[in-house]
Amino acid sequence: MPDVLDPTLSARLKRDDAGLVAAVIQQHDTGEVLMVGWMDDDAVRRTLTEGRVTFWSRSRKEYWRKGDTSGHAQYVKAASIDCDGDALLVQVDQVGAACHTGARTCFVAGGDLGAVVGERDPQDDGAPHATPQDRDQQDEENR
Ligand SMILES: [Zn+2]
Repeated sequence: MPDVLDPTLSARLKRDDAGLVAAVIQQHDTGEVLMVGWMDDDAVRRTLTEGRVTFWSRSRKEYWRKGDTSGHAQYVKAASIDCDGDALLVQVDQVGAACHTGARTCFVAGGDLGAVVGERDPQDDGAPHATPQDRDQQDEENR
């Protein structure tokens, strides 16, 4: 098993100033978004090769294999990279609670923000409106 991250993947990762990428962790069968954590190259490599999710803890400045202390392990089912390489999606089988508070997900723990619900225009069939679509694309490129 190689102990460096695949160079092709390494070249695609867009890390922040601390060398980290965000990893969205999702329950593979229910689609629940469980939590978001941070990974450096070695945490990505370990997650992709060891069958368990490993993060880099920004507060403790150490690797953190989820479940080693809590028992709430995350078993990897699949992993993907987003279009511009600055985030990963890891689909897992989560044992117990994903959140350190004991809640199933960090977003249940954090709570609903009461966002205004947008109403989709029934006429909106997704047909291109040249200007806004171009702007979306620009925004994504400039993120
Ligand atoms: Zn949490």
